[in-house]
Amino acid sequence: MADVHIKNANIFDGTGAATRPGEIVVRGNRIRTVAGPGANLEAPGCEVIDAQGATLMPGMVEGHAHPTFIGARANTDMGDIPVEEHLLATLRNAELLLDHGFTSLYSAASAKLRLDVVVRNEIAAGREKGPRLRAASPEITVTAGLGDESTQHQSRSSFGMVADGPDAIRHAARYCIREGVDNLKINISGDDFVGAKGGQTVMSEAEVRAAVEVAHDFDRKIACHARAGRSVKRALTCGVDVIYHCEQADDEALDMLEAAKDRIFVGPAIGLIWNTIHEAQEFGITPEVVENLGMQRVLDMSAKTYNELRRRGVRVVIGGDYGFAWTPQGTNARDLEHFVNLYGYSPAEALACATSVGGSMMFPAGDLGVVREGALADLLLVDGDPTRDVRIMQDRAKLLMIMKDGAFHKHPRVAGRARGAVAAE
Ligand SMILES: [Zn+2]
Repeated sequence: MADVHIKNANIFDGTGAATRPGEIVVRGNRIRTVAGPGANLEAPGCEVIDAQGATLMPGMVEGHAHPTFIGARANTDMGDIPVEEHLLATLRNAELLLDHGFTSLYSAASAKLRLDVVVRNEIAAGREKGPRLRAASPEITVTAGLGDESTQHQSRSSFGMVADGPDAIRHAARYCIREGVDNLKINISGDDFVGAKGGQTVMSEAEVRAAVEVAHDFDRKIACHARAGRSVKRALTCGVDVIYHCEQADDEALDMLEAAKDRIFVGPAIGLIWNTIHEAQEFGITPEVVENLGMQRVLDMSAKTYNELRRRGVRVVIGGDYGFAWTPQGTNARDLEHFVNLYGYSPAEALACATSVGGSMMFPAGDLGVVREGALADLLLVDGDPTRDVRIMQDRAKLLMIMKDGAFHKHPRVAGRARGAVAAE
């Protein structure tokens, strides 16, 4: 970790407030000082970086990350790949996401049990490059649910861990916790891509309750896959912490989500839906397939639901099931554009979802995802103003500096050579 003084920056602090000129001092892994223009901070012993007007902002948080997803065309691709190759692919994905400005990943399921855990540990120990990672369990699912790929005559696997009944669910949850996960994941709904549909609620209330009880007994978090309104309500009734998708939430579910807004986070995972409609033809998802899957209807419901959740102040994170063949890892920042175009967020509000909101999901202490004195030093310097156009965040060449935990992943001097705009003195 270096002591760094960044001058002449335009600071987006992660809260959604407008950018303002200023300078900061980082010492160790924390932001020591934040000051406005003209403060002329003295910071002895610091490396000085002249940002020359570039935007300084918190590192982004992928709120529905799947670092173990390997560009799969079918869910079973993730079961078919041997664990050795799978681990290496996961390490590459983690580094790639950091290269794209994601300094934190909140994993929404690990395709094999210990992949997230091991990658988290190696990164935390400094032996591998990658973002902060909250490691997830596989998707705990019921027989015939999303993630159960087997049939009577053929055993197959993908990202699911099948368990039926509260006792078996409890065992699966404890087993994952014993192996080191931070987050459990349960599939309460089905999904339109598989046998059990998105509108169906296939995990029983007793099963959900058992999983939540285990997670909270061990001070872990629990996230769920819930598309149907009934699934969303079941998740809320049972105390699930993070609810993904939610697009079929009815008025009662919306009221319940709003009532729980200080406790929960939600994430639409819209990238997969968008790309399935618009960019998956070469993978055999023709317009007819899209039509049969009802994907446009899912997108329309998502837009309606998340405009409402935004209006009601529910905390929403970006992250869109990137890691399928038609949602390549590294393109995750496209969600920002969808948040603006589909959900009505201003660019600054969408960026807040990607920084301060995701940061408080990672660490409830509120010291991640913000540019604030005392906060953890996960920072980006961006060539341009993403609060005017969030699409800038999709171009890794615009990321002049990437700092995680006070250490440079990308030093601005390297970027500055090509650009000539950022100078390290
Ligand atoms: Zn997912």
